[in-house]
Amino acid sequence: MNKQTNFDLVLFGATGDLAMRKLIPNLYQAHAAGLLNPEGRILGVSRSKLDTAGFLRQIESDAKVHIKKNFSEEMWNSFLKRIQYLTVDVTHRADFDKLAELVKARKNTENVIVYLSTAPTFFTQACANLAAVGLNGKNVRVVLEKPLGTDLKSSQKINADVAEHFEESQVYRIDHYLGKESLQNLIPLRFANVFFEPVWNKDFIKSVQITIAEQLGVEERAEFYDATGALRDMVQNHMLQMLCFVAMERPKSLAGDDMRDAKMKVLKALKPLSPADIDVNVIRAQYTAAEGHAGYLEEHNVPADSRTETYVAIKAEIENERWQGVPFYLRTGKRLAAKTAEIVLNFREDLDDLFPNTPNRLIVNMQPRETVSTCVFIKEPGSSMNAMPVEMVIDLAHAVEGRRAEAYELLLREVIDGRLSRFNRRDELEAAWEWVMPIMEHWAKSPVAPHQYAAGSWGPQAARDLLAKDNNAWLEDQ
Ligand code: NAP
Repeated sequence: MNKQTNFDLVLFGATGDLAMRKLIPNLYQAHAAGLLNPEGRILGVSRSKLDTAGFLRQIESDAKVHIKKNFSEEMWNSFLKRIQYLTVDVTHRADFDKLAELVKARKNTENVIVYLSTAPTFFTQACANLAAVGLNGKNVRVVLEKPLGTDLKSSQKINADVAEHFEESQVYRIDHYLGKESLQNLIPLRFANVFFEPVWNKDFIKSVQITIAEQLGVEERAEFYDATGALRDMVQNHMLQMLCFVAMERPKSLAGDDMRDAKMKVLKALKPLSPADIDVNVIRAQYTAAEGHAGYLEEHNVPADSRTETYVAIKAEIENERWQGVPFYLRTGKRLAAKTAEIVLNFREDLDDLFPNTPNRLIVNMQPRETVSTCVFIKEPGSSMNAMPVEMVIDLAHAVEGRRAEAYELLLREVIDGRLSRFNRRDELEAAWEWVMPIMEHWAKSPVAPHQYAAGSWGPQAARDLLAKDNNAWLEDQ
């Protein structure tokens, strides 16, 4: 039974790429699954001078193609009935009067969700204008897309501006990795299974690896990417969130602030990186031409002397009792050998000399498959007592029957339902920036050029050496 409140979802950036590719198709999925209040309205807004019929035509051509499952014309037509459109330019205060009028005209609305799927440079003005027309009351939630700023200062500024008009409990900061079931699954995996949590610490775990690898290069986004780089694009947000999920202490409860407090403690315990640490423990690199692909510096719209990293590997350390001395290796890059997102826990192999060289591993794969797999040693058949490894795999897509929602659908439903735990809190986001800022600042001054790696490889030799120094190796080399 659907107990969801009657909502008004005001979608800024409704004509944009994210709305057409992800937000509208995922709202359709929630609608088709009967998970949206039948009265809930979607109010698309953007600068384009369209009426509702014109916007629906655009959705028909640009969003419908991205619905890959559960599609029927009948369901689609009933979904379209929820949708209206209004032209609102964020920079035109008067447009917000029309918006407020339209929203307030609906007397039975319980919650208003304002989703800002626009460039972050608009967040300040959008929030100020929403407040000016009274669209910041207790029943209003505001959703901020990433990236929230480009460094600590700009992020703090946006957060402070938004906080002038909205309480923290009204603000939903998106990191779509937090919508991934395979990441959230780490919490029950650890705390609902008696055999994981007791070994989830430095006494049993030798190292942790977190990888987000892409096979694609910068494609059409070279200009954006060159101003951003892998550290800002992936590490500051997704990778540090993954690290928090692996490393957090047991949260007091599963409620929003308890989960976020537990993650915050991890971010605060990350060992700050000094310039000397960065030189040794942080590797930046760019891909070079190989396998028919251009090198990064040859890509269209990339300056030939660019130092922007398309790859970064970091050895991070968490200074608390649970993790002291356990390296957390993070790496991400473009034009790598495979597309994957995964977390690998390598357990110690020196605990029992009856069976030497029997390294246990737990691998949480979030992409391309959603699996939890572990390597367990069993007896080799025959007269010997040799141990041999076998893989045990839980495929999340097949382990449980029923529909699996995409990250954006889950996040949209969470915000409509008013649950905050899958969104970043202000202090979390700023703590993550605080940790990466010294790297950005050091690189900006460093005379040392980025390392290089061949397109289609697993990254630079320097990243292999980073682990080899500790007698460790990346998963593909184990
Ligand atoms: P986009 O394709 O460039 O679309 C921008 C949207 O903003 C358009 O609907 C545009 O409306 C609207 N807009 C621009 N100026 C405006 C103004 N003055 N007043 C009102 N609306 C205005 O951008 P996008 O790719 O959808 O990205 C939107 C946000 O999501 C950005 O913050 C981006 O960083 C984030 N994001 C996007 C992706 C993705 O895959 N696309 C992934 C992660 C995060 P008009 O078309 O009517 O001008």
